[in-house]
Amino acid sequence: MAYDAVVIGAGHNGLTCACYLARAGLKVLVVEQYREYGGMTISEDVAAPGYLSDVHASGYLVAKLAPAQEDLELTAHGLELITPDPNWALVTTDGWSLLIGRDIEETVRNIARYSQKDAATWKALYERYLAAKPAIVKGMYSAPQTEAAHLAQLSQDPQGGDEFRFEMQTARSWVNETFDNETVRAFVASFSFHAAASPDDVGGGEFAWLFSSVVQDVGVSIVKGGMHRVSAALAADLEGHGGEIRTNASVDKVVVNGERARAVRLTGGDEIAVDRVVASNADPYHLTIDLLGEDVVGNAIADKLRHYEWGDSFFTIHAALSEPVPFAAGDDIGHAGYIHVQPSTIEELSEIFAQCRAGVPPETPLVGVVNEAVVDPSRAPAGKGLIKFVVHYVPYRRADGRWWDDADEAYADHIVDWLDGTALPGLRNRITNRVVHSPLDLERRLPSSVHGTHQHGAFVPYQHGAMRPIPEFGHFRATPLTNVYLCGAGSHPGSGVSLGPGYNAAQAICDDLGLTFPGAASA
Ligand SMILES: Cc1cc2nc3c(=O)[nH]c(=O)nc-3n(C[C@H](O)[C@H](O)[C@H](O)COP(=O)(O)OP(=O)(O)OC[C@H]3O[C@@H](n4cnc5c(N)ncnc54)[C@H](O)[C@@H]3O)c2cc1C
Repeated sequence: MAYDAVVIGAGHNGLTCACYLARAGLKVLVVEQYREYGGMTISEDVAAPGYLSDVHASGYLVAKLAPAQEDLELTAHGLELITPDPNWALVTTDGWSLLIGRDIEETVRNIARYSQKDAATWKALYERYLAAKPAIVKGMYSAPQTEAAHLAQLSQDPQGGDEFRFEMQTARSWVNETFDNETVRAFVASFSFHAAASPDDVGGGEFAWLFSSVVQDVGVSIVKGGMHRVSAALAADLEGHGGEIRTNASVDKVVVNGERARAVRLTGGDEIAVDRVVASNADPYHLTIDLLGEDVVGNAIADKLRHYEWGDSFFTIHAALSEPVPFAAGDDIGHAGYIHVQPSTIEELSEIFAQCRAGVPPETPLVGVVNEAVVDPSRAPAGKGLIKFVVHYVPYRRADGRWWDDADEAYADHIVDWLDGTALPGLRNRITNRVVHSPLDLERRLPSSVHGTHQHGAFVPYQHGAMRPIPEFGHFRATPLTNVYLCGAGSHPGSGVSLGPGYNAAQAICDDLGLTFPGAASA
C-alpha cells in the first residue's frame, strides 16, 4: 500500500509535521526506529522501576509560543503542564542564588538584591522583548528570511547597525556592556548555555536575552506525567486524523527515482511506497549521507554535511532518592522549573567550554537540575525523590584517550561529590539508584542525539535560519530532490521542544502540493 506522505522519525517535530499533513488530507505514516515514539521527548523509568524520568528534554517553554499547541489541540489530547513559581533558579557554587519569578516584579526584586540598576535593566530588556514578541514568534514559526534579505532590511533601519551588532555579540561582550554586577552577569550569560554557546561564541548575547525573556514570559513548565505526554498528545491528534505510526522501524534508504523519492526501505528490506512526500525528522547528516547518499545529493552538499558542526555534548545522571534533597541556598530553589548550579563568574563559565573543547571533562561545569519528583510528585513513589542532572558540557572524545564507557561512572561520582559539597548537601547518601548517560550512551539510545548533543547541529551563525543546516536545504527542501523535506531540529528555528521545524516544514510541503495549510497561518 502506498502512503501520500512518509515521515522518517517520530520525534515531536516529525509528529507535528505529520499531524498537519494528515489534517491537510494526506494519508500519512510515521516510521520510528526506537521502540517508542517521541525521540527526545520521551519518559522512562531509567533510574529505577516506578521512577519516571524525562530521558532528554524536561523543560517545556518555547512550545507555548507555537501555533501548533492550539492548532493540534494538545491540551484536549491530555497535555497538562505544571508551571512552578519560581520559574528558574541560579545557584552558584560559592553560595549565591537568584530566582526568576512568574511575576516580573518578583524577579526585579530578586535582582535588586545584587544591583538596583541591573534590576531596572532586566525589566527594560523584558519590555523590549514584549514589544518585539509578535515579530519574534512570527520569525520562528514561518520560513526563515535569507541572510541577504535580512541585511537589506537592517540597512533600511536607522537602528539596523546596532541591531546587527547585537545579533553578533558574544554573551560576555553583551552582559559586560549591559549589567554591572558580576553575579547578575554570570546569571544572564548562563542562558546562552542552552544553545551550547560559550560566553565567547558569536550570537550568544542575543540568544541569552531571548531565552531568559521567554522564561520570564511564559514560565518553564514540567509536563505532568512526563515529557512523553507531549508526543502522546501529538500521536493522538495524528491518529485522530487517520495517520499511522510504526515503531521499531528503522529506515535505511530513501529510494529515489530521478529527482523524486518513491519509497523508503526499512532495515530488513521492506519497502514502503510513497506517492507524494518524504519528510525527515532524522538529523541532517543521517538523511543526506546515509539515507539519500552522495550519488543522489552531489559532492558539494555531501561535503558540507560531512563537515557539519555538532557542538558540545551532554552528560546526564538520573537519580532515584530515598527522599528529596533540599538545596543549601533555600527550600524555594528546589521548587523551580529549572535550576542552574554553576560557577559564579564569566571567566569560569568560559573555562567550562575551554576544557570541554580541549577534550577535558570540566571539573566545575554548569549543571542543569530538574527536581522531577518535587515539581511533579507523580514521577516517584510517595515520599521519595527523583532528580535529573544535565552536565553542560563534556567532550565527545576525551583527550586522555579514555573511552567514556570506562570513565562515565567516575565522572558521575565527581559531579555528585561536587554537588554534595556545594549546592546539594546530603545528595550522595540519598541516592538509592542512579543511571548515567555519557555522550556515547545518549547517541546509542537515540542516534539523532549525535555525539550526545541536543540540537541536530551546533548553534553557530552559519548553521542558522535559512542556512540551517546548509544553505541548499535552508527552506526545508532537500534539493535537488523535489519531494524530500527536512522537518527536525536541524532546520529553522532549530533545537528545543518548540514544535517549530515540524510546523514550518508542513507549511512548505502544503505550499508545494497546493494544499491549504490546516493551521493558524492560513486563518
Ligand atoms: C539531555 C537532553 C536534555 C534536553 N533538555 C531540553 C529541555 O529541557 N527543553 C527543551 O526544550 N529541549 C531540551 N532538549 C532538546 C530537545 O529535546 C531537542 O532539541 C528536540 O526534542 C529535538 O526534536 P526533534 O523532533 O527535532 O528530533 P528528535 O527528538 O531527535 O527525533 C528524531 C527522531 O528520528 C528518529 N530517527 C532517526 N533516524 C531514523 C531512521 N533512520 N529511521 C527511523 N527513525 C529515525 C529518532 O529515533 C528520533 O526519534 C534536550 C535534549 C537532550 C539530549
